[in-house]
Amino acid sequence: MAEYEDDLRKLKEVLEIPQAKEWEATVRLLLRLIGEDPSREGLKRTPLRVKRSLQYLTSGYKQNPARILSRTFTVKHDEMVIIKDIDFFSLCEHHLVPFFGKCHVAYMPDKRIIGLSKIPRLVDAFSRRLQVQERLTTQIAEALDEYLKPLGVACVMEASHLCMMMRGVQKQNTRAITSSMLGIFRTSDKTRMEFLNLIRANLST
Ligand SMILES: [Zn+2]
Repeated sequence: MAEYEDDLRKLKEVLEIPQAKEWEATVRLLLRLIGEDPSREGLKRTPLRVKRSLQYLTSGYKQNPARILSRTFTVKHDEMVIIKDIDFFSLCEHHLVPFFGKCHVAYMPDKRIIGLSKIPRLVDAFSRRLQVQERLTTQIAEALDEYLKPLGVACVMEASHLCMMMRGVQKQNTRAITSSMLGIFRTSDKTRMEFLNLIRANLST
């Protein structure tokens, strides 16, 4: 990391990039590399917009899952809790192109629950980073498992990847489905099937 910081500092000196203008300078350079003229009317404010947009789309790095899941409530409820159809938007770390879709999360409480709105917030915290869908799915499940300590967690994500749709294999209707099953969702066929049946209406398979 220190080496990288050093390289970056040297590069900024060579290019005479003023402090706090790295983003704009980088986007302008990118526009030039594409073959565009960064000074033309329509592109004048693009570097600033791209900066803000990318900062927002990667704002999950600043969010702490432990904090999102810090407030739990003790209850007698011991049935499965499911939040389905959570919209998510992420960026593929290989191409910096979006992938997006639906996320379904379930957990089996062990005397403790969390506010329902915390789960979509957790999904956002991990989605707004550079990701691969497989890791994103696992991180959501593992964070719930670690901080809520339920009897089990399930997370299923179905997503369309623009890097596959717009380029590469150009398969426009292909969706990727990933899942992570922990605890009772892994050990009990009955629990896993109950969860999958409840979300099935959304899945194409
Ligand atoms: Zn990609």
